[in-house]
Amino acid sequence: MHDLDKIVAEAIAAFDAVADPAELEQAKARYLGKQGALTERLKGLGKLATDARREEGARINAAKDRIEAALAARRRAIADARLESRLAEEALDVTLPGRGLARGGLHPASRTLERIERIFRSIGFDVADGPEIETDFHNFTALNTPEDHPARSMHDTFYVAGGKAGPVLLRTHTSPIQIRHMQSHVARYRHLPVMPEIRAIAPGRVYRVDSDATHSPMFHQVEGLWIGEDVSFADLKGVLTAFLQKFYEDETVRTRFRPSFFPFTEPSAEVDMTCVFCHGAGCRVCSHTGWLEVAGSGEVHPNVLRHCGIDPERYIGFAFGMGPDRMTMLRYGIDDLRLFYEGDLRFLQQFV
Ligand SMILES: [Zn+2]
Repeated sequence: MHDLDKIVAEAIAAFDAVADPAELEQAKARYLGKQGALTERLKGLGKLATDARREEGARINAAKDRIEAALAARRRAIADARLESRLAEEALDVTLPGRGLARGGLHPASRTLERIERIFRSIGFDVADGPEIETDFHNFTALNTPEDHPARSMHDTFYVAGGKAGPVLLRTHTSPIQIRHMQSHVARYRHLPVMPEIRAIAPGRVYRVDSDATHSPMFHQVEGLWIGEDVSFADLKGVLTAFLQKFYEDETVRTRFRPSFFPFTEPSAEVDMTCVFCHGAGCRVCSHTGWLEVAGSGEVHPNVLRHCGIDPERYIGFAFGMGPDRMTMLRYGIDDLRLFYEGDLRFLQQFV
């Protein structure tokens, strides 16, 4: 084989052996570069006679053309292969199932509030609402809370800066909603000889300086109010018992009232219901008493009615308050209130 053919064959083999563009350029330099095999041959032409030089030059150029053609072909092949592999890497698998949008759900606390509202609406109660930032008057004074009551201290209540007409605070209970509801009810029906009955519940967020396994600085309350000319403790007991039976889906639930004290009711009573887990037999949840404390209640204090423009000599009112967070814990068997507010999806998704 002529040595030029040998150089061309070597060059083609060298080009075919590399798959990287940089390595290909290095291989090109070995044959076509300044010190390349073919260039050295061209430099040697000067020593030849004219005829032989022309002939040898033509053969060297032909070899150079063949090497350059092989180089161009290899460059294209490498570029095509790289494009192929990139396309394969970035390919979309259109047969994969879509990820979709995560479906939201109601928080267990919201589910309980909705359930409570639905049941009370079904027995003729309105659902009242009010501001979470309240005046000292609506949160304490109108509710017959004495000036020196510990609930008014900064240890118990979050005060908000900037109250111009007196202290402003995050409401500590939903009772101020009831005050506002009574005031607007009185104003609306002032022209009537007899005030229509007030039957309303007041659900919402409330705030206290408190935090442990069973207390959160923000929690929920539902209070209820029933005022008329002829309402009694027996009516209140009937409504609360029917409500608890519906809420816990257990018609065997019974209630009992124990004397208690609240500034805004007189007389006042704690409401217990038979334990929904052991039906009164005694278990761990009810501390083996068979009863669970579920609400506070009482006859609305005459001073509270007077603050709202209602004549306590003519109308009688009953109020009650419940903790929907505890009701949620009992209903779903949850033992730490803080789980509600940590936003852990593993916990929350169980209720969707
Ligand atoms: Zn029990």
